Order: sequence, then C-alpha cells, then structure tokens
Amino acid sequence: MIDLRNFTLAELQDFVADMGQPEFRAKQIYNWIYRGVKSFREMKNLPEAFLNELEKKCSPGTLTLEKRQMSKEDGTQKFLFVLEDGHKVESVFMKYKYGNSVCISSQAGCRMGCKFCASGLLGLARNLTAGELVSQVMDIENITGERVSRVVVMGTGEPFDNYENLSKFLSIMNDSNGRNMGMRNFTVSTCGLVPEIEKFAKDFPQVNLAISLHAVSDDIRSEIMPVNNRYNISELMAQAKKYTEITHRRVTFEFALIKGINDDEDTVKALEKLVSGMLCHINLIPLNEVSENGLKTAGRSRGLEICGYLERHGIPCTVRRQLGADISGACGQLRLDS
Ligand code: SAH
Repeated sequence: MIDLRNFTLAELQDFVADMGQPEFRAKQIYNWIYRGVKSFREMKNLPEAFLNELEKKCSPGTLTLEKRQMSKEDGTQKFLFVLEDGHKVESVFMKYKYGNSVCISSQAGCRMGCKFCASGLLGLARNLTAGELVSQVMDIENITGERVSRVVVMGTGEPFDNYENLSKFLSIMNDSNGRNMGMRNFTVSTCGLVPEIEKFAKDFPQVNLAISLHAVSDDIRSEIMPVNNRYNISELMAQAKKYTEITHRRVTFEFALIKGINDDEDTVKALEKLVSGMLCHINLIPLNEVSENGLKTAGRSRGLEICGYLERHGIPCTVRRQLGADISGACGQLRLDS
C-alpha cells in the first residue's frame, strides 16, 4: 500500500496528476488527512470513482495499534504500533500544563549501542519512513481525541541516523496546508552525530535540539556511548557551540544519572566547567533501569542535589519528572517485551 502520509504536498500533487486528476485534488486529500480522517469514505468532496481508485492503491496511514497503556496518575499513555512489515515501534503521549506532547520513535531499533538504553539491545531493524513518523503523531491524536502541541523525537532510534526521513517528516508536519505545526514545537534528540548537528542547524534552525551527553570524560563516554569513539567530547562541544552561533538558540544537554559512573562530585564540577559560558540547559535524567545491563539509577534526590549545584553556578538545569510511573519501564521496553 502507498502511504499517503509519506507524501509532501508537492509529491501528492505529482501522484494525483499521475492518476489523471487535477492538482487541487491533492490539497483536498491533504486537508482531510491532517484533519484526522481515518478512511477515504470520509473525504466528502472527492469523486466516488477517484476514491475507489485511491482505496485500492493507498492507505491514509499504515500503523496498526497493538497495545495501549494508560497511566491512572497523570494521563500519560504508551502506544505500541505495528508497521506494515511487522516491525514494532513505541510512542508516548504526555499531558503537560502547557499542552499535550508526543514522543515518537525515529527507527525500528537503533545501532548506536548506548549501554544504558533498552532500544538498541536488538540492534537496528530499519529506518522509519517519514509517513511512519507522521502517523505516530496523527494516530495518537485520532485515538485519544486530544490535540498534540509538541513533538519530541526521543523514542527508539537515532534521528540523525535517519536524517532524510526526519527532515521530510518535519516539513510535512509543518506544511500550512496540512497539520501546520510550528517548527519551534519540535525537539530532536541526538546521541551526538557531529556532521548532522551542523546540517540540522542550517536546515531547521527553529527546531529545538537536545544532545545526549551523559559523561564529561572521553573514557567514560566511550564506555557507555560507542558513538564517542567516532566523535569525541571536544568535537561534540565545539559543534554545539557552532550550533548556537548558527541558530542563536540554546542546546539542551541530556545527562542520565548512573550510580557510580557519572553522579560523583568531580563529574559534576567538570560538567559545570564543560558547559560554562554556553547558551544551554542541562536536563538531568534519573536513569530508567533496564534489567539487561545491570546499571543503577543515581536517584531523583541525587539529581536534585546536582541540579541545585549547577544552578548555583549559573547553569540552567532541570531534573526530568517521571511521568506515568505506574506504566513505567524504560524507553524501548514495551517493544522489547512484546
Ligand atoms: N538517539 C537519541 C534519541 C533517543 S533516546 C539520543 O541518543 O539522544 C532519548 C534520550 O533518552 C537520550 O538522552 C538517551 O540517552 C536517554 N535514555 C536512553 N535510555 C535511557 C535510560 N535507560 N534511562 C534514562 N535515559 C535514557
């Protein structure tokens, strides 16, 4: 089946032209899809014969919902979707005071091999298409009946390892003829693919960028994040500075606190030094424990202590709140257990 959510408006215009239809039909279809229709029959202003033809060839989205978990505490919901070829991806819906947020996966699996992460345990199956990225957001809106105002690309996968489809996804979601979501409402998180950070700064200067740092010495970072053997901390930090020069925007550094590995005084002081003077924000994440790797969390209270220290030294910092504690399980765990 051809996934209509994998088309930019220009591509859809070519597609309908190939089917012998006038170009304006593409805008009509685009409009329906991003208004959230689930079937072609709901596209009321299209001729019957054309709808029949579309139905034979295409689908308005290709994900099948396999599992939905709902938190009773704070409205967080986790979704496990099955792709057309049987691979599975996880997405999360979160409620915040300022609106609803969805965390999507960028790949089925991941090949970055971070030690603490459940997503990479089985390696990479394949990149997700732009349509599969779009559908995670659109299907969650359709299933929950809630409007999503922010999207974070922080689920399974390394988004910059799937750069082209990520770019296409952002362009489709941003199109004013479709979902019309502002670029500033997206956040993309990378483990630190240095060349793509620069490309991204130039291509999408308004999208928020988060960089998974997690360590301040190359020894430790290489130990827990193999990507550090390709791009070390000094290359990464230089590129983060360049990112701010290009975009004039701050970078968020994510720092997952792992007991006995990166939660000691010396690390905290070195972290302060490393980011001092940068336009940035540090997001401390108490490690979500994954039984397969034996790593332990430094705990939220240690996170708050470190956060206090950094703030006293002028570094903006937060400790990530754990949402949906009753349906918790580390990122990627739902997919792994299915
Ligand atoms: N590949 C991207 C995005 C996916 S992971 C990246 O590395 O940034 C999103 C964030 O969750 C990253 O900061 C990642 O390092 C972190 N993460 C992964 N597993 C975790 C775990 N078990 N506990 C806490 N944070 C984790």
